[in-house]
Amino acid sequence: MTARRVYADNAGTTALSKTALDAMMPYLTESYGNPSAIYSLGREAKKALEGARVKVAAAIGALPEEIYFTGSGTEADNWAIRGAAEKGSKKGKHIITSAIEHHAVSHTLEYLKKQGFEITMLPVDNLGRVSPDDLKNAIRDDTILITIMMANNEIGAIQPVTELGRLAREKGVPFHTDAVQAAGHIPIDVKAMNIDMMSIAGHKFRGPKGVGALYIKKGNYIPPLLYGGGQESKRRSSTENVAGIVGLAAALEEATANMAENMKRVSAMRDRLIAELLKIPFSRLTGDPVNRLPGTASFVFECVEGEAMILTLDNAGICASSGSACSSASLDPSHVLLAIGLAHEVAHGSVRLSISECTTDEDIDYIIATLPPIVEKLRAMSPLWEDRMNGKF
Ligand SMILES: *Cc1c(COP(=O)(O)O)cnc(C)c1O
Repeated sequence: MTARRVYADNAGTTALSKTALDAMMPYLTESYGNPSAIYSLGREAKKALEGARVKVAAAIGALPEEIYFTGSGTEADNWAIRGAAEKGSKKGKHIITSAIEHHAVSHTLEYLKKQGFEITMLPVDNLGRVSPDDLKNAIRDDTILITIMMANNEIGAIQPVTELGRLAREKGVPFHTDAVQAAGHIPIDVKAMNIDMMSIAGHKFRGPKGVGALYIKKGNYIPPLLYGGGQESKRRSSTENVAGIVGLAAALEEATANMAENMKRVSAMRDRLIAELLKIPFSRLTGDPVNRLPGTASFVFECVEGEAMILTLDNAGICASSGSACSSASLDPSHVLLAIGLAHEVAHGSVRLSISECTTDEDIDYIIATLPPIVEKLRAMSPLWEDRMNGKF
């Protein structure tokens, strides 16, 4: 057997880029000052921090003072949603979301529901897209927040965010989008896309883990997340993760500079992967074939168990995922796959291969050569497959 390793779980996390690491190193070593300190070592760190803010803002069409660094994408989502709920609760308690949000959003909303908020969950079509008409019809006088993700982490479907944001703005309802999968991978302009708040996370675009950012449009959308020393314009106190923030900004700047080229090359590899793996009988692509993230190829293979696929692929050196990493501890099929209309037993056979600019054509060749025989082998052991072949369902 080869000792080859093919990393195809870039929607789960990515490898730190050399540029990001190099940018971080000084702040992990000699330049360790606290950005709040007024002596030169502190000012050096402060300068790096504010430089990072300028870079992040430039990458998404925001103003530097609209960028707030957080400890993760999850934290940014929680802050935006719980903050908007607190802020809006005098006006109303109605929140609109989609049926395919990441748990960082959906579990936050579940918590708010227990606190007395009313959640309208918009359905998606079989390609995983929210309809702007559905949003239009769902907005009420007491709606205080709309939170709909930009691109889905399991099936890569990209939402019509500009249109959704326009509808929200027409009605004066704050619009938050979880862009953790999208940032650094597809073009984003928060102004042109009518976004009021947006979450991103460094480790999904080759920055470090444990650092994210929330864009908050100028205005008074949400209260502070943390009280204390007054960092992040008094809205998210904590001594800043200077190295992490610098790494996030460097990675985002790099991803943005290379975006057009990466999108072209990565989506060509993705499409080859999709075309070849769909030759497997009783297989389906999940998500929108056109409006999808450049790196995300997601499938269901009938009569195989996604978890068994992942473990067998791992034995062959391929890192992949079955639905979202967060749900892999549970036996319930992913809420996203059910929302696009898949039957439970079909949804169980999901496999997500998410590639990046680090992926090579040889990696794709290897997956194409390795995965179909694994499906065949697992099906050969499956009593379900026998029934399927005998036309029992
Ligand atoms: C990964 C991810 C998150 C969570 O970000 P963390 O930085 O890992 O907390 C939230 N939303 C989406 C869509 C994601 O893909």
